[in-house]
Amino acid sequence: VLLWMFPVYRAKDLIEAELLLHRLQARGIPSAVQNGFLQGLLGELPLSIRPTVCVLEERDQSAALLCVREMEAARGAPELPDLVCPNCGDTSPGNFEECWKCRTELSA
Ligand SMILES: [Zn+2]
Repeated sequence: VLLWMFPVYRAKDLIEAELLLHRLQARGIPSAVQNGFLQGLLGELPLSIRPTVCVLEERDQSAALLCVREMEAARGAPELPDLVCPNCGDTSPGNFEECWKCRTELSA
């Protein structure tokens, strides 16, 4: 079964992806990592195929984005500024290339 998944975070590596995955699943949010299998085969990955944490239900996406914020705050990472979608006006995390909601391309 091919599920349509909703991306919430593009991790820098599989460890980071799994940290977020555990955080989401601890809250009962169904989630999965895309591209995780590529890690280790290729070493440093281009951004477009980095492990991407996705939720399986669109309605969980905003709760999942909050978890991303919590994770980033917890580790004190410098946060990229949020990007505002030129199409729907919603904000996406700064490391996104397209709007999480309507998939319009975002430019920093
Ligand atoms: Zn949008």
